[in-house]
Amino acid sequence: MSKQNLYSGSCLCGGLRYEIHGEIGDIVQCHCQKCRKANGTAFASNAPIRKADFKIVQGEHLLKKFQSSATTQRCFCADCGSSIISIKTETPDLYRLRIGTLDTPLQQKPTQHIFAASKAEWDSICDGLPQYDERA
Ligand SMILES: [Zn+2]
Ligand SMILES: [Zn+2]
Repeated sequence: MSKQNLYSGSCLCGGLRYEIHGEIGDIVQCHCQKCRKANGTAFASNAPIRKADFKIVQGEHLLKKFQSSATTQRCFCADCGSSIISIKTETPDLYRLRIGTLDTPLQQKPTQHIFAASKAEWDSICDGLPQYDERA
């Protein structure tokens, strides 16, 4: 049997728990206004995962979907509000995981900043990673 990654994560209230049976892609710090509002933070830390690898193991009924644009759904816990994944119609086989909800340690580091042109005026990007005005 081939070696397989297994990650697990949960929302703030713990009602919703998930597993990822596969790889986590490049971590991206997204400074777009929608991510900032969805999380109440300077930026969101997101990484792509395969839809087929993502399994909700508890509290599936809690995953509420908000259509934040014509092509994006943002999915969060209905009880505590934790952002979990987003789904884009142009990449239906991928989810974008909010990696702050992981409980498994992650060895990877962020790779880039996107929508840096939209960053909050009070925020300073203090690492040497590539910055893109919108997407890379
Ligand atoms: Zn919750
Ligand atoms: Zn964003």
